[in-house]
Amino acid sequence: MRRWMCCLVTLMCTSATLSATPGHPRAEQQALELAKQAIALRSVRGPGNQTPQVAALFKSALLAGGFAERDITVTPVDDTAYLIARWPGTNPKLKPLVISGHMDVVEAIPADWQRDPFTPVLENGFLFGRGASDMKLDDTLAIAALLELKRQGFRPRREIILEFSGDEETTMKTSAIIAKELSNAELVLNVDGGGGLLDQDGKPVYLVWEGAEKMDVDFELTVTNPGGHSSAPREDNAITRLAAALVKIGAYKFKPELNDISRGYFTEAARFEPPEISAAMRAFAADPDNTQAAAVLRANPSYVGRIGTTCVATMLSGGHALNALPQRATANIDCRIFPGHPPAEIMAELERVAADPAVQFKDVTVGSVATDASPIRQDLVTAVTKAIRLGYPGVPVFPSMSSGASDSMWFRHENVPSYGVSPMFIKSSDHFSHGLNERAPLADIAPSITYLLSLVADLSK
Ligand SMILES: [Zn+2]
Repeated sequence: MRRWMCCLVTLMCTSATLSATPGHPRAEQQALELAKQAIALRSVRGPGNQTPQVAALFKSALLAGGFAERDITVTPVDDTAYLIARWPGTNPKLKPLVISGHMDVVEAIPADWQRDPFTPVLENGFLFGRGASDMKLDDTLAIAALLELKRQGFRPRREIILEFSGDEETTMKTSAIIAKELSNAELVLNVDGGGGLLDQDGKPVYLVWEGAEKMDVDFELTVTNPGGHSSAPREDNAITRLAAALVKIGAYKFKPELNDISRGYFTEAARFEPPEISAAMRAFAADPDNTQAAAVLRANPSYVGRIGTTCVATMLSGGHALNALPQRATANIDCRIFPGHPPAEIMAELERVAADPAVQFKDVTVGSVATDASPIRQDLVTAVTKAIRLGYPGVPVFPSMSSGASDSMWFRHENVPSYGVSPMFIKSSDHFSHGLNERAPLADIAPSITYLLSLVADLSK
């Protein structure tokens, strides 16, 4: 999953520019070639899923680059597979550094695309294809950077583990298995998350790293009723009762909240916003009980998800005949829970709001687990900031919380700190992950390799 956190009406300042640091041509070339080969493999869940072939492709690149056969495992799971590659450290007492990505992609219907989604195309400075930005190029940048470190003779003190899940976009079964298997990790660098923003002139504005995610939970609400003939209505009607509860839930606002990650985000992102939003961000970061500031942020679709838990009705059904009293009415409430709250607590809060014992609540969430925010680790912040500024001198770097789930969720659930640290910069207008005509800017490749070499070396030595 790749989400962009920005909705910048105006860009008020940027001193950052792209630097002309000497590159690493061999690694850059390898990242691009490998990404093109991976895009050509249709790693979509279901019949013909080629995720195992992507794993085989990545494995052969790692073997050719010096990884030992015994240190790479590709494990089939259902129609997919996951890969774990280990680079042993010189100090076996240190807990491993994990680099995390995924090999599967979201379905793409060729008829809807301008170019075939599973044929990589280089055009106008972009790599086009399903998975270009989410996240096959990120995967191959990580592979190429590790192999470059090996060529340079680097020897990590801490074991480096590169892992790729095979169903991040769907069931996350392999994601959960991997996180359990690697639950002794020191920290996780997830290259599927975070990232940089370019303004419309292509100048870098800022880079965010992600340290927290909201949990996606679904509650099913049901009202049942004896029913009967519609010519003889009863006081008690399943549809009406459910509707009354939904209206109350629709009007309800959860208490605004702040954690270290979102405080850091609002404090820093305020610099890039127009005056009203900027003032609200600063006021909210200073005091989450500031109702006026919360109201301004809540009114903005880009920020409503950042100031607390949200719950919204997403599906509704009821009744079985035009002329019968409904025997049953159901609705789905989709909640994005602020880190730190178990789903049961949020469901109890909604039950209090609905205040009707006839409305039955059931947690019907699939594939999601509760997480806390990862701590703001100074070693991580220092290493990310240093690494990204090698390619983008002076660029602002700050934390962010995502409103969707990635593989980081499974590691945080195992109490392993996990951070979204993609180095890819893109304009918000060029962002098409999960959508049509997905693309990644080729200009990102060189600074991304430089960044990964520095980041991985700093956090593993
Ligand atoms: Zn992704």
